Amino acid sequence: MPHVPRLFCSSSTESGDHCGSEMRPEKIGERVRVDLANGDPYYLISLDRWTCSGCGISVLLSGPAQRPIAHHFEPDFDEREFATTVRLAR
Ligand SMILES: [Zn+2]
Repeated sequence: MPHVPRLFCSSSTESGDHCGSEMRPEKIGERVRVDLANGDPYYLISLDRWTCSGCGISVLLSGPAQRPIAHHFEPDFDEREFATTVRLAR
């Protein structure tokens, strides 16, 4: 049986209240462009967006089988569409 993650929000509000609500998958397979730490485009991947049922923050999560859809050096990379961008850590 595949592992199904359960995500819980650990954010705090400005007043210091702890959220702690369970997060739910909002969109499976959102197209995301991953950039290097310096902002250069690196590759496209499909990630899952999970949103907090309490405070509404969201995260993008990769699954164990998710691999890049396209790399920056491919000729049609600049024409490919994506919903948002993220950036790798240095
Ligand atoms: Zn929350």
